[in-house]
Amino acid sequence: MAIQLLNRKKPVKKIDFMQFLSGVPARDYVFLNTPYEEQVRRSAQFLKSADAVLIGAGAGLSTAAGLDYGGKRFTDNFGEFIEKYGPAMTDMYSAGFYPFPTEEEKWGYWSKHVYLNRIEPGALPLYQSIYELVKNKPHFVLTTNVDHQFWKAGFADEDIFATQGDYGEIQCARGCHDRVYDAKELFLEMNEERKDCRIPSSMVPKCPVCRGEMAMHLRCDQYFVEDGHWNEAASRYAGFLDRHRKGKVALLELGVGFNTPTIIRFPFEKMAGEEKGWTLIRLNLGEAVVPESLAERATGINEDIAKSIRDIMKAEKCAEEGQD
Ligand SMILES: [Zn+2]
Repeated sequence: MAIQLLNRKKPVKKIDFMQFLSGVPARDYVFLNTPYEEQVRRSAQFLKSADAVLIGAGAGLSTAAGLDYGGKRFTDNFGEFIEKYGPAMTDMYSAGFYPFPTEEEKWGYWSKHVYLNRIEPGALPLYQSIYELVKNKPHFVLTTNVDHQFWKAGFADEDIFATQGDYGEIQCARGCHDRVYDAKELFLEMNEERKDCRIPSSMVPKCPVCRGEMAMHLRCDQYFVEDGHWNEAASRYAGFLDRHRKGKVALLELGVGFNTPTIIRFPFEKMAGEEKGWTLIRLNLGEAVVPESLAERATGINEDIAKSIRDIMKAEKCAEEGQD
């Protein structure tokens, strides 16, 4: 019955996420043996000579910024959960996958997790430094992080594509309709009302359309909702790539490991390989290997990201003042 469709609002153009992905790792990874200071100097040079900066950020960046999901920060905050659910509670990443037996317990856990990682923290200094580093050039952020730190640090919404969701939002667990819901207030209330790791039954959210269960807006299964805002961000990312394809782009990759490398890591290597005007700055404690074939157009700094960013900013200043 096509007639019924006529009065509907024009749908947001659907972007196929697959177009941004690459599943092909470089075959010529090397740890660069160039000294740290030289790599810092070159990274600053790459940023200085670029027309635009594309940031790719993964979990390692938020860990370096202070949002550590394991260790003392986990045991200090999740004592009652560790006691109740036992050895499966090893860190906040694994805990998110725990099969909580009831909705009251599921939201009991998530309200704590979201409060700690999304609601309570302000802009973290490392994220603010990154904003300072790139704010005077055209820039765009592609991130798998869901803690909202890029917005808090001052980046504009139109310059961010957070591909995997946001801790502040919830959706239908079965993805029955293409909308996500702001749940920050709800999480605050849940966080206050939680007792013995569970929230009151009256606070359990229900899908307004199918009345089924709700879930975090996080890409963890095939039901992840790519809503209008997500599609607009994807489309702006595609636009940024098109506009700067033939120019000089510095790819600033921060804390992207091998957990979901197809979203940032492999595509960045592919683009840097194809576009001769592009450079790759990979900051990653432990996984800073870069393709040898990128030779003089890549740095791979195997150090604490906060330290590397501080030193790159210093090197930029020195270069400006002619003290290099
Ligand atoms: Zn539903």
